[in-house]
Amino acid sequence: MDAKTLIQSTAFDLGRALRKGNTTATEICTACLEQVARTDDQVQAFVSLDPEKILAAAEASDQRRKNGQELSPLDGLPVGLKDIMAIEGAPLTCSSRILEKFVSPYTGTVGAKLLSAGMIPFGRLNMDEFAMGSSTENSAFRKTRNPWNTDHAPGGSSGGSAAAVAARQCPWSLGSDTGGSIRQPAAFCGVIGLKPTYGRVSRFGLAAFASSLDQIGPFGRTTDDVAALLDIISGPDPYDSTSWPEYLEPAMVQLNLPEEPAVLGLPREYFGEGIDPEVRSQLEQVIEAYKGRGFTIREISLPHTELAVPTYYIIATAEASSNLARYDGVRYTRRSTESNDAVDMYFKSRGEGFGPEVKRRIILGSYVLSSGYYDAYYKRAQQVRTLIRDDFLKAFESVDAILTPTTPTPAFRIGEKIDDPISMYLADIFTISVNLAGLPGLSMPCGLSKDGLPIGFQLIGKPFEEGRLLQIGKTYEQASPFTGRPAIANPS
Ligand code: GLN
Repeated sequence: MDAKTLIQSTAFDLGRALRKGNTTATEICTACLEQVARTDDQVQAFVSLDPEKILAAAEASDQRRKNGQELSPLDGLPVGLKDIMAIEGAPLTCSSRILEKFVSPYTGTVGAKLLSAGMIPFGRLNMDEFAMGSSTENSAFRKTRNPWNTDHAPGGSSGGSAAAVAARQCPWSLGSDTGGSIRQPAAFCGVIGLKPTYGRVSRFGLAAFASSLDQIGPFGRTTDDVAALLDIISGPDPYDSTSWPEYLEPAMVQLNLPEEPAVLGLPREYFGEGIDPEVRSQLEQVIEAYKGRGFTIREISLPHTELAVPTYYIIATAEASSNLARYDGVRYTRRSTESNDAVDMYFKSRGEGFGPEVKRRIILGSYVLSSGYYDAYYKRAQQVRTLIRDDFLKAFESVDAILTPTTPTPAFRIGEKIDDPISMYLADIFTISVNLAGLPGLSMPCGLSKDGLPIGFQLIGKPFEEGRLLQIGKTYEQASPFTGRPAIANPS
C-alpha cells in the first residue's frame, strides 16, 4: 500500500491490511514517520520521537507475523502516547522542566497492555504541563498548533494527542482527561475522544494530577477504532485500588449489536447563553440526525451545573498540590544548581522547575486544604460534587444518554486566553461535570465553522456504558459522517 493511503487509513483498516499481508508494520510506521517529518514544523505535536526504536519494534512485529505466531489484531499498529504515561526506557516529561530529563524506570498498566498486544508506542505527545490547561500552551517545550488552522490552539491538555491524529501522523493515540482534556481537544481538532468511566482504565503509571478525576482514554477517527483501543486498555488492576474490580463487557460487543433508538436528554443548562451560534446550529443538526434515526429527544435539567467549574478548581487543585509534592529535586527531578542548603534547594528546584500555571494550582490547592479553610472550601466542594453526581443519576432514570456541545466555541487562537486563567478554565465548562460525576463522556466531530474549524458534540453515558455510548456515536457517524480533514493531512 502506498504511504498516502496508509496515513489516511483507520487503525481497523490497517489491522486488516496487515492480516491480509497487504502491508507491513514497517511500511505503516515509515509512512507515519514521513508524515511527521513533513508536518511537524507546523503542528508541533511531539515532545520526543525515536524513529529507530519505532522501526525496530515494527520489524519485530513483522518478524512475529512472518513466523506465523498467533498475534493480537492490533499487533504492529503504532499508537501515539501523551507524555504522561510510563513506559520503561521512554522519556516521561509531563511537558514540564522539572521532568525534562526523566526517563521512566518502569512500565505502567496501560503501557504494558499496549506492548503485550504488540502495539508500537509512537512518540511522546505534547500536553499542558502536568495536564493543567486547555490549550497545550502551558507546555514547557513547544506550542502545538491546530492542524486545521495553525494560528489556533489544538485544545488541551492532550493537545498533542488530538493534533497528531487529526494531522494523520498516527492513526490513533491516548490522552488523559481530568476535566475535559481528551474531549475538548478532540472537538477542537475534529477527531473522536473518549473519557472512560472512572475506574475502567488503570491509573498505574499515569503521572497523577487529580487522582479522583484522572482517566486515560483513546483518540481516533472512527468509533470502531476508539472502541478497540478502549478495550485494550480497560480492566481491573491490582496496582490501582480505584480500578473497577470486575471484568466488563468489551465496548466492541455492544458497538456491533443492532442499533436501538435511544432517549437522549438535552440539559437546558448546557444550551443557555455563551454558546457560539455556529456551535448551536451544528448541535441542532445533530439533534435532527438522531430524530431521523428514531431517537427521542427530551429536555432535562442538571440544576447544579453552574457549580461545576468552581467545584472542580477546588478539588483538582487540592489533589494536585498533594500529588505534586513528590517533585522535590531530591529523588528524580531536576535539581537547582543555585542552592545553598537543603531548604533553599527545595524552593529553588520547584521554583525553577514548575511553570506559572502549575504554581498557581499548587498555591490554590494548598490554600483550600489549609486548616481553617478546609471545611469552607474542600469539604464543601466534596458535598457539591455529590449533588452534581446525583443530578446525572436522576437524569439517567429517564434518558439513556445526555447530548451537549463539547465546547462553547470552536478552537480559540493561540495566545487569546493565556493571560486570562478564568476564561481558559471556562473552556471546559461542558466537560468538567462528567469527571466530577465519574461518568463516561464521548466527543464526536459534527461539522466545521464558517472559518473551517471543527465543532464537536458530547455524549454522556451511565457508568460503564461506554459500549452503548459509542454505539450512539456510531449512529451519528453513519447518519451524518464527518469526512472533513485538514489540508495538512493531504500529502501532495
Ligand atoms: N482544563 C482543565 C484543567 O486545566 C482540565 C485538564 C485535564 O482534563 N487534564 O484542569
